[in-house]
Amino acid sequence: MNKKYDAIIIGAGVIGCPISYELAKNGYKTLTVDKLADAGMGSTAASCAIVRAHYSTVDGVAMAYEGFKYWLDWENYLGNVKDEKGLARFMNTGSILLKSQGHDWRKVKSNYDVVGVDYEEWSVERIKEAVPVYDLHEFWPVRRPEDPKFFDPPTRMLEGAIFCPEGGYMSDPALSAHNIMRAAEAHGSEFLFNVEVVAVRDDGNRVTGITLKDGTQFDAPVVVNVAGPHSYKINQMAKGVWDGCNIKTKALRHEVMHVPSPEGYNYLEDGYHTSDGDVGCYYRPEVGNMFLIGSEDPKCDPQEWVDPDEFYAGKGGQGRDNQLTEAQYKAQSYRCARRVPDMQIPNQPRGVVDLYDCSDDWIPIYDKTDLPGFYLAIGSSGNQYKNAPVAGVLMAELIDKCEKGLDHDKEPLQFKLRHIGRTIDAGFFSRKREINYNSSFSVNG
Ligand SMILES: Cc1cc2nc3c(=O)[nH]c(=O)nc-3n(C[C@H](O)[C@H](O)[C@H](O)COP(=O)(O)OP(=O)(O)OC[C@H]3O[C@@H](n4cnc5c(N)ncnc54)[C@H](O)[C@@H]3O)c2cc1C
Repeated sequence: MNKKYDAIIIGAGVIGCPISYELAKNGYKTLTVDKLADAGMGSTAASCAIVRAHYSTVDGVAMAYEGFKYWLDWENYLGNVKDEKGLARFMNTGSILLKSQGHDWRKVKSNYDVVGVDYEEWSVERIKEAVPVYDLHEFWPVRRPEDPKFFDPPTRMLEGAIFCPEGGYMSDPALSAHNIMRAAEAHGSEFLFNVEVVAVRDDGNRVTGITLKDGTQFDAPVVVNVAGPHSYKINQMAKGVWDGCNIKTKALRHEVMHVPSPEGYNYLEDGYHTSDGDVGCYYRPEVGNMFLIGSEDPKCDPQEWVDPDEFYAGKGGQGRDNQLTEAQYKAQSYRCARRVPDMQIPNQPRGVVDLYDCSDDWIPIYDKTDLPGFYLAIGSSGNQYKNAPVAGVLMAELIDKCEKGLDHDKEPLQFKLRHIGRTIDAGFFSRKREINYNSSFSVNG
């Protein structure tokens, strides 16, 4: 006899864990399975875990702003559960969005006004006061260091910034997923690690369960694909699901650099998360007084789409292929060093490499599928860490309503963001949507 659950969640990352947590709180008996050894060990472990509200769409801003409220009140969100590994911490640095040609900040500002995000307008002088190491000249357009114009002296100044005081980052993304797992377990959720799903079963009408590589079967009337960069592989296992998605997902390799802060400047204590479309980077403080530098996907950079199995197996099967490339290390750190001219860039690159589970329009899919009982929380596109607790609530509600008869494709769930009091049309995240051209088609969502 196969063991039976009300819902099986495939993937114990920062998005899978809150779905388990919220379903368990709603009385579902859940099993979450993951092929890695613990919660948050997949792409979540490499996340920059930045929590900021600037998105290109009103709904994107609303989801993210709702997310702030969970990170700011982490212990309560977890139901004050204990975790033997300790709790992750929200580093509330505030978030600077530089006004630049590389970022449609006017759209962001108008979205902030619609949603009611708390923000301030900062002049160049005000930014300089907050972060004295920044050179606030305009360096646009974003170039690669091999471009002969890369080091051209700038002639103009930036306009200023939009500052969002509630922004920041989580101290340890893998730990944050682990914390949520412990909170879910306190409500009866079960987690099983080092097991790989190789089949999604159905009875011709609806999903019936999963099969693991060792042949073990678990049954459930609800199965949720939260497999991160492997999401498209899981979709291909479930009958009709891949073909029924108008928006597809695939895995994109991404590099993040750690470069020491200029001497004498305590970036770790005094720094701010900054989005800098002018040089195509975002950066935030990192342990060791480092600048953690991510890419905002400027057009001049090549995109590297990969097979997640090959990436995670690594070269010669030695584990995750996490070698920074010299060219991208140079590109991101030299760009950041235009803004922070006293930054010393070591020859030896340091940082992390991982995969985005990228959707066609860089907006996630939170949805049901054409296979009844099979649901998707995928396509997080490098920008959904901050939304994970909200995604948990959204998915639990969506699943419950659909299982009770809602036809979400015809009458999309109207989802109330309980902290900011705004209702969004969850059809925004539909797998059936046309590509959303309001998106930035970048990590900015
Ligand atoms: C480098 C990088 C930087 C980022 N920075 C930010 C940021 O600053 N802010 C932000 O908001 N977002 C950021 N993101 C995005 C964010 O981290 C992700 O959206 C989020 O971590 C995805 O979580 P997940 O649970 O969907 O996926 P994952 O954490 O990848 O979890 C999926 C899990 O599924 C498991 N799995 C897959 N296939 C199977 C199978 N067949 N059987 C069993 N288990 C399986 C995997 O082992 C994995 O643990 C970043 C992402 C990356 C890669």
